[in-house]
Amino acid sequence: MSLTAFQQQRYARHLTLPEIGAAGQERLLAARVLLVGVGGLGSPAGFYLAAAGVGLLGVVDSDVLEASNLQRQIAHTTADLGLQKIASAQRTFEALNPDCRVRGFAERLTAANAPRILEEFDFVVDATDNFDSKFLIADACHAAGKPYSHAGILAFFGQTMTVIPGRTACYRCLFDGPPAEPAGPPQGPVGALPGILGSIQALEAIKFITGCGTLLTDRLLTCDALQMQFRVVAVRRNPHCRLCGHPPG
Ligand SMILES: [Zn+2]
Repeated sequence: MSLTAFQQQRYARHLTLPEIGAAGQERLLAARVLLVGVGGLGSPAGFYLAAAGVGLLGVVDSDVLEASNLQRQIAHTTADLGLQKIASAQRTFEALNPDCRVRGFAERLTAANAPRILEEFDFVVDATDNFDSKFLIADACHAAGKPYSHAGILAFFGQTMTVIPGRTACYRCLFDGPPAEPAGPPQGPVGALPGILGSIQALEAIKFITGCGTLLTDRLLTCDALQMQFRVVAVRRNPHCRLCGHPPG
């Protein structure tokens, strides 16, 4: 595969980077990334992955767009209210870059359908908003051997970590199982915060695909947006991890 004249202009800034270059751009165009959720995190992640020329973007989301989503879920517009989020996300991302094909899955990711959905993708972005889904993605990606970027946000706080199953610390090395979901109405998140975390997730996918730099593995990045403080905490593989421990169990 070689870049067309227009692609050489479209991706000119990537082509100037020795870490990416034409070979990296061709890898991006051939890459398949799965977004699980196209809300606060999935919107910016999808925007940047589409803009970067990722060839196939899978989007798993069964939700219909609600007014309360619009404060942060920037792949969707007011005119999309009442539509399936995968429909508006597909229109948005494909309009940004026709090199990016979007395949929507109008279903919730479950233990039963995850192997089928994950199968054709190279990298998974966990852009979900609940603990059950995050543990499900960790388990399914481990079983399928798929690298993934975890992120979570609450109120003014966020965290993210990249996992290469079998090689680096996994989500269950950090957290054994889902805590009780907080009672009462949702707390935020503040707008723009998911933009920071989702953009980091997209960048981790781009780095994984092109093989440049050092991934956010065996490290948890936390963001306190109220104080605007970022921290990186070392994370070790837990030998007793119920998912990736040795021996497992
Ligand atoms: Zn683990």
